[in-house]
Amino acid sequence: MLKEHTREEIKEVIYQVLSENLFVPVGVSNRHVHVDEATCDILFGKGHGLTVKAPVKQHGQFAANETVDLISENGKIERVRILGPIRSKNQVEVSLADARQLRLDVPIRDSGDHVQTPGITLVGAEGSVHMEDGVIVAARHIHVPSDLAKKYHIVDGQMAKVDIGGQRGLLYDHVLLRVREDYVLEMHIDVEEANAAGIKNGDYVRVIL
Ligand SMILES: [Zn+2]
Repeated sequence: MLKEHTREEIKEVIYQVLSENLFVPVGVSNRHVHVDEATCDILFGKGHGLTVKAPVKQHGQFAANETVDLISENGKIERVRILGPIRSKNQVEVSLADARQLRLDVPIRDSGDHVQTPGITLVGAEGSVHMEDGVIVAARHIHVPSDLAKKYHIVDGQMAKVDIGGQRGLLYDHVLLRVREDYVLEMHIDVEEANAAGIKNGDYVRVIL
């Protein structure tokens, strides 16, 4: 016979579970490009800049109206969206299937790590730019705001596992935790990782610290 629980007891258990587990909403990234100012000037004309199509969850970032075609030696992907604002370095983020379509050997890397990554040509409305390197498959990661990091004793650069429930439930290993004051809590995975787990934008997953 199950013991009857009072409303207060149940509430207490729920609070306990919630405070021990970090639940994070998922943001699914499709292929996209970051550009520096010089590149933006060539692709879309000097001083044109990037125009906002829609803000994304991280503060100050947005999907731009501007798109480029990606041209490799033996492949092509058209109308790839640029993610603003302007950055200090060009970077192209694709999925593994995209890499195959481009016939490029693209490593899985943290953002900004371009050592031994392939290059590609960006073609915009007004011009084209060849990148010597900077094409990556972005490593999955979680953006953690500093105050929450403190609460859960998370340090920048720490790795975690993420448990994804549901019909296609799986356990993602090697998930990088990135901590910064202005981050909004969100796990970034690409379309293929999301599809593998049967999850979509805004779904919640559980971080195992
Ligand atoms: Zn991210």
